[in-house]
Amino acid sequence: LLRVRGLTKSFGANQVLKGVDFEVRRGEVVCLIGPSGSGKTTVLRTLNGLETPDGGVIEFADAGETDFSKPPTKAQRIALRDRSAMVFQHHNLFPHLTVIENVVEGPVHAHRVPKALAVERAERLLDRVGLADKRDAYPFQLSGGQQQRVGIVRALALQPDLLLFDEPTSALDPELVGEVLVVLKELADEGWTMVIVTHELAFAREVADEVLFFDDGVILERGAPKALLANPTHERTRRFLDRIL
Ligand code: ATP
Repeated sequence: LLRVRGLTKSFGANQVLKGVDFEVRRGEVVCLIGPSGSGKTTVLRTLNGLETPDGGVIEFADAGETDFSKPPTKAQRIALRDRSAMVFQHHNLFPHLTVIENVVEGPVHAHRVPKALAVERAERLLDRVGLADKRDAYPFQLSGGQQQRVGIVRALALQPDLLLFDEPTSALDPELVGEVLVVLKELADEGWTMVIVTHELAFAREVADEVLFFDDGVILERGAPKALLANPTHERTRRFLDRIL
């Protein structure tokens, strides 16, 4: 579904991505782990068109490849942006809109889906994550875990090929983490393709097809989660895992 080659990105003098290569097949779950500042979030943001890389290639099946050695055209930027939907650490819901209005906003305004159809789809999705009865509530009336589940539904409503999650549980109280991880696991079981930045290693071990360990702007190590998490090859990976486990 997705192939990324030689991705580079600097902010001023700070080179944050130093040549990142990976692939995601349809239906796969790939987890990005690694120390703070190693570039994981920046990778997600470039996939979603929120940052423009300085170099490298991002290739989505059906959307062709975008080579960032020259500035992307508007059509390329839109094609890239529409392939994926991102769920943020803080859900970023519109506070003045109800749950259902938050969910239909993207499909109706960005994708020109007729409102009635968008509402019908949104209701089905809310029902699936156990939030049908919160349809007309405002975000502040929901718990953090419920807000994050609405954030996930909002991404699903865009019907993207790829779901991107940036530490979806790290802003939640510990007792609310589980309900969000359950939803992610269900999406994986349903065959959604997902790239997830996470510090939840037990979750990565259970759900990921591949884990990428980022360190200082490169993928230092990658592999099946059980092998990588139990027997890392690199000293730096081992130290990171020792600290976090
Ligand atoms: P974390 O787990 O803390 O989110 P990360 O691995 O996701 O870490 P990034 O958020 O990708 O790391 O950040 C990598 C580096 O890029 C950091 O040093 C950060 O300060 C810097 N950075 C990110 N976004 C910007 C920006 N818009 N302007 C300047 N520097 C930035």
